[in-house]
Amino acid sequence: MIEVKNLVKRYGSHTAVDHLSFTVEKGQIYGFLGPNGAGKSTTMNIMTGYLGATEGEVLIDGHDILEEPEKAKKCIGYLPEIPPLYTDMKVGEYLKFVAELKEIDREKRRVEIQKALTMTKLQDVENRLIKNLSKGYRQRVGLAQAIMGFPDIIILDEPTVGLDPKQIIEIRELIKELAQEHTVILSSHILAEISAVCDHIMIISNGKLIASDTPENLEKQMSDAGTLYLEVKTDKESLQTMLSEISGLGKWSVEEKEDSCIATIEEGEKEDPREELFYACAQSRYPILMMQYKKASLEEVFLELTEAARKDAERLKNNRRFGERRKKKELVKEEAKEDESNL
Ligand code: ADP
Ligand code: MG
Repeated sequence: MIEVKNLVKRYGSHTAVDHLSFTVEKGQIYGFLGPNGAGKSTTMNIMTGYLGATEGEVLIDGHDILEEPEKAKKCIGYLPEIPPLYTDMKVGEYLKFVAELKEIDREKRRVEIQKALTMTKLQDVENRLIKNLSKGYRQRVGLAQAIMGFPDIIILDEPTVGLDPKQIIEIRELIKELAQEHTVILSSHILAEISAVCDHIMIISNGKLIASDTPENLEKQMSDAGTLYLEVKTDKESLQTMLSEISGLGKWSVEEKEDSCIATIEEGEKEDPREELFYACAQSRYPILMMQYKKASLEEVFLELTEAARKDAERLKNNRRFGERRKKKELVKEEAKEDESNL
């Protein structure tokens, strides 16, 4: 339905979208999740034809967004980060204007507007000026604008940002309702927003897609890598010796506390080493004060993934800077040599 291939967007030397590829299938809710500045809005603006890409292509139902923009755009309703509202217009007037822009058949317009108003629960404010509406209502007008003409795909950029909890729940309900008949793609920098409504999560960091899966699989993938915490009443060296004699453990470290030690053991070949650890401690007569197995939550997964991607990007940047500095130094040296030989 949507194919994004090798999308790149550069602003000067800054790469906002970095070789992004993914496909979106019909009838699901997709979530773009990523910290601020990850490249979510840029990607959405390119997918909807508001912005040109530096490289790569976007196909909407087989239509290239740049080569056949009209056909491609007909399939999409878009609510950008800042909704394009004319605040001096009344809600109904504005939607009529949108219906004209979207070239919805004249005889169908009234019905389409009513459908959009009903869906977004805006019937009561049809005759109010947009500028007099609360933020929650304005967001709904933005949504009504996006769903007008009932396109197959609805793309919403941070649809719940700045709303209060009650409004957030209302918008979530609406998104779920929309998803019964449409494919919905929404973005957020808040995990809870995405995991509450999405069937599929795409985690974006520094313009790169770093994970793409169902919330359940992402959680499973991460919880496979659980961590075991073991607090034992003994000294650091003894515990280290004991652990090094147990095979099949993942990476571990030992931290000294007042009169005990805590070992942090990552999952290794041995799926559940708790029993073995218990007997090893008993044999050495080290009292176990605490043993806890902890699986990473989706929140931690998200933080871990985005943090790792951020560090990678920083390293790359520093390497590049280092490379540039070295080149400059070499250039200076060469120039000095040339000066010498010119003398
Ligand atoms: P997100 O929506 O995930 O917060 P954006 O797509 O808005 O991220 O931005 C991605 C990166 O591109 C950011 O580092 C941002 O500063 C940069 N960026 C966005 N728009 C522009 C622009 N018009 N000119 C220069 N840099 C931009
Ligand atoms: Mg954004």
